[in-house]
Amino acid sequence: MGALLTAAGPAWHALPASGVARTLAVDPSAGLTAAEAAVRLSRFGVNALPEAAGAGALQRLAEQFTSFLVLVLVAAAVLSFALGERLDAVAIMAIVVLNALLGFAQEHRAERALQTLRATAAPMATVVRDSIPARIPAADVVPGDVLRLQDGDVVAADARVVESAALRANEAILTGESAPVDKTSDAVDVDADLAERRSMVYCGSQVVYGRGTAIVVATGVETEMGRIAASMARRPSPRTPLQRRLAAMGRWLVYTTGALCAGVFAIGVARGLAAGDVFLTAASLGVAAIPEGLPAAATIVLALGVQRMARRNAIVRRLAAVEALGSVTVMCIDKTGTLTENRMEAKAMWMSGRYLDAERDMPSDAGLALRQALLAATLCNDASLDGDGEGVGDPTEVALLALVRRHGIEPGEARAKSPREQELPFTAERARMAVVCRTPEGRTAYVKGAPEAVVALASASYQDGGPAPLDHAERGAILDAAAGLAARGMRVLALAGRELPDDASADPERDLVLYGLVGLADPLRPEARPSLQAAMAAGIHPVMLTGDHPVTARAISEELGLPTEVIITGRQVEDLPEDQLEEALAQASVFARVSSHHKLRIIEAYRRLGEVVAMTGDGVNDAPALHAADVGVAMGRGGTDVAREAADIVLADNNVQSIVAAVEEGRTIYENIRKFVHYLLACNLAEVLVVFLALSVEGATPLLPLQILFINLLTDGLPALALGAEPAEPDVMTRRPRPTKAGILGAASLAPIAGIGGLIAAATLAAYWWAQATGDDELAREMTFATLVGAQLAAALQFRSPTRPLLSLRRNVWLLGAIVLSFSLLLAAIHAPFLQPAFDTSGLSAREWAVVGGLSLAPFAVVEALKLARVGVWLERPQRL
Ligand code: ADP
Ligand code: MG
Repeated sequence: MGALLTAAGPAWHALPASGVARTLAVDPSAGLTAAEAAVRLSRFGVNALPEAAGAGALQRLAEQFTSFLVLVLVAAAVLSFALGERLDAVAIMAIVVLNALLGFAQEHRAERALQTLRATAAPMATVVRDSIPARIPAADVVPGDVLRLQDGDVVAADARVVESAALRANEAILTGESAPVDKTSDAVDVDADLAERRSMVYCGSQVVYGRGTAIVVATGVETEMGRIAASMARRPSPRTPLQRRLAAMGRWLVYTTGALCAGVFAIGVARGLAAGDVFLTAASLGVAAIPEGLPAAATIVLALGVQRMARRNAIVRRLAAVEALGSVTVMCIDKTGTLTENRMEAKAMWMSGRYLDAERDMPSDAGLALRQALLAATLCNDASLDGDGEGVGDPTEVALLALVRRHGIEPGEARAKSPREQELPFTAERARMAVVCRTPEGRTAYVKGAPEAVVALASASYQDGGPAPLDHAERGAILDAAAGLAARGMRVLALAGRELPDDASADPERDLVLYGLVGLADPLRPEARPSLQAAMAAGIHPVMLTGDHPVTARAISEELGLPTEVIITGRQVEDLPEDQLEEALAQASVFARVSSHHKLRIIEAYRRLGEVVAMTGDGVNDAPALHAADVGVAMGRGGTDVAREAADIVLADNNVQSIVAAVEEGRTIYENIRKFVHYLLACNLAEVLVVFLALSVEGATPLLPLQILFINLLTDGLPALALGAEPAEPDVMTRRPRPTKAGILGAASLAPIAGIGGLIAAATLAAYWWAQATGDDELAREMTFATLVGAQLAAALQFRSPTRPLLSLRRNVWLLGAIVLSFSLLLAAIHAPFLQPAFDTSGLSAREWAVVGGLSLAPFAVVEALKLARVGVWLERPQRL
């Protein structure tokens, strides 16, 4: 059979459906057995496209040694060796290797985190196995599998359609043709090209309408997609705006630092120092001052944050969304399923002019209308119930089936008696669904949908005696009755039907007889109200979207605590001119009777108003809106593959609470990246200032090249990363959203960087001059070395919060660990006999340590005092509400 699945295999599209099933040895109604599927999986391999192998570990390790900076260091080592300073040469090389290993470990970690990310968003497929539809990872689909397709699915493999109920697929990804193609189970001409093979569905295409069944004929690389993809290398994930900004900042730093180092070199030579020595100092300074690990570190912080989000049920598909999340100002949320549980239950009915309690027995005189209504609810319905009452399908339809069963009708039996001949699926635009069934009494149409939509098609309604013609007043009365149910927060469906003449051309959606109304309640999620309140406290404007009636929407939003003065309908979204729409949008928190295409208009209008919009969506038609939103949010449970592919994040639990949690994480991640960038720059500034000033004033280098490199290793590495792991500040969710234009390095960053950097430099130079007064150059360097490291480590604690004093912060064990480790290494460099020759140290006395300690803590004390005194000049103050 393997040969059949190659390009030279049968023309599946031209074979009759039964022939395909026979060739692939599968019964289309029972599917494969689990055992057979396992055999085929091992024979044909997983259904996945191979990812072009990324750079291997060795290659990436090698790359660490090829950066310009490392080359400068190697040159420095060679130069040291030539100058006869063998120990220096060896030590510099040791630092080069350590640096490379650290860089490699960081990149490796970042890459691994990104991989886990990709794995969590793996696609699924529905196949029939052992006669039962099962949801399995798309990778496990094998040739011969019976694939169940419905609108919103992304097709998991190439397959031959064997049943099509208005099945329609968008194959733009393969053919470039954006108009959807109708699919059929009939064989097509053997010469038909890909775009014309209406009997086939292809891996990667999207089902945009209807339902269907298809038998898989090719998986993995054997699919049409596989053929295209095989020639495409894996694209690296695009860099996020933040990563791009950091890279740009890095380039800018290279130039300025380069210029400064050239200046250091020039001054040193002018002051009569040996050119070789000054070159080493300048080169080390350059290496130390350029934060080359910054992009990788930022990626790690992003990726770790993304893992935290995943634990809080928000799965990130695009890293760039994390930054946008932190500045979201408008959150457009679907009511059904995100704010509510999407566990509908029929609570009330209205029939022949009166309300009935759906949970109690119906009065017997409701008889005929009730019977017809229940039949319509059963037959015009794609859901199913198992023996325990567990439903599969649209919760609205499941609720109707449960109601039907409560009245003693078994849905399965009723459907067997009246097989479906035709169907017009539910879409939010039509707000109704219709079927034609062959009942024992003849062909009958059944319709269910939103009351306005159905009543408009009805010409009669059931009264006590039987169908009576509808007049204007009657229609009004029915819609009033619907509004009565809606005012109790219920979703209302009208049920109707009509006996059809035998000729197939009769319109099933005309001259309907209205049987009655059903009110479905959908409980609010307990987290919904607090989450929306939290969003508002965080300066975010929450907006509820629903396809339900405005009256239902009002009742629900009152329960949620959303303002209901302005309720905008989908119709208004369509009809209002742009400027009026924008005006209304700024005030509205509730949209009713909206369908997917309104969402796009809503988002565009909000974005014109300068808002950063997060938008939820789950249907196939939501994809454009999800793309257009700054943060597209799709549902992990129930929602469609198409929506998930278009989204930036997927909610594992469909819960609004997870969006708010993601916003909080997004804000924290951004702040943490900013904290460590500020910290790094302040440290580097201090290092450059110390060397530059001492050299200009004294004509001597205050630090040896190796000491500079060591400082860089101690402070740039672990403490900076640990700052990225800061816990959220307690007030992250009571601040305004960060303005999108405020970069990591705004004017406001100048104060902490220049201020704290300058203080550290001043303290360090004080130590230098204090020791120099003794006339001992070696001691002066040793003190400089110790003070610079000490002050930087102390400052790391302060960069944890731009405003709050250290003692008010929660613990960050990573940072404490990093500081302890770095400080121990400093002690070793100063006191360990085997390191002393390399670092040109000889140990410090208690008195000297006291001076080092005092001066290290002096900048810390100043900043801490400023924080306590709430002096805002230094420190960037986040905007309060
Ligand atoms: P939402 O976006 O809030 O889920 P929908 O667009 O799905 O809203 O539903 C809008 C209206 O369409 C509902 O108020 C109901 O009257 C009707 N409706 C919902 N689901 C179905 C269905 N499966 N069949 C027929 N009508 C439906
Ligand atoms: Mg719905």
